[in-house]
Amino acid sequence: MLIIHRIINIPVPSNSYVIFDKAAGRDCIIIDPGTKNNEELIEFLGKENLVPRFIVLTHEHFDHCWGVNHLLEQYQAPIICSQSCSEAIKSAKRNCSVFYDNRGAFVIISYTLTVERLNFTLNMWGKNVKFYLTPGHTEASICFKIDRYLFTGDTLIKNEKTVTKLPTGSVEKLKESIGLLTGLQGSKLVVYPGHGESFDLNEYDLSISLNGIINV
Ligand SMILES: [Zn+2]
Repeated sequence: MLIIHRIINIPVPSNSYVIFDKAAGRDCIIIDPGTKNNEELIEFLGKENLVPRFIVLTHEHFDHCWGVNHLLEQYQAPIICSQSCSEAIKSAKRNCSVFYDNRGAFVIISYTLTVERLNFTLNMWGKNVKFYLTPGHTEASICFKIDRYLFTGDTLIKNEKTVTKLPTGSVEKLKESIGLLTGLQGSKLVVYPGHGESFDLNEYDLSISLNGIINV
C-alpha cells in the first residue's frame, strides 16, 4: 500500500511529499523538495530507511525546488520535470528566488530527465505512473499521477484561484489544463496540491481555479 507523507517546506509553506511502499523495499519518490537544507525530509528518510528513486518537480518556483541541490549531495537520484522547468530553474527571475531575497539564482547542475523524454509514462511498484503537461500557472507546470493520487503543484490548490501573473503564466493555457483535469474527474483521484490540504477531485468545482470563489 502506498503511503503519502507530507512535509511542509520552510520558510515558504509549500508541500513536499514522500511516496513509498513499505512492503516493496526502500525506494521512494520525492515531490517538490522546497526547503533549502531538507532537514525534516532527510530525517524522515533516515527514520524510514528510504532512498529516493527519483525527484519530481511540479514546476520551477523556488519554494518547490530549493532543496534539490542539497538533496543531490546526499542521494543520486534523477530529477524529473518538464523541459521548460529544466531551463527555468536556472533563472533567478523565472524561479522567483530573485523576488524572495534579491541574491539571485541557485543553479541546478545535476542531470535532469524531462517528462517529454520519458514519453509521459513510467512504472513504479507495478503501478502506472503518469505525467501531464499542465501549463498555466507557468509554462513549465506538470501534474504527476501514481495509482489514485494526483500531485498538482500550483496548478490546482483547494479553494484558490490559480496564480497566472508570474513569468510565463497564462490564463488561456490554464483553461486548457483545467479542461484536462476535468477529464480525470470520475476516476476517484485524490489531489495532493503544492500548498494546503488534499481533497477529492470528483467532488471539487474546478472552475474555482479559473474564477476564484464567488462570495454571495
Ligand atoms: Zn508556483
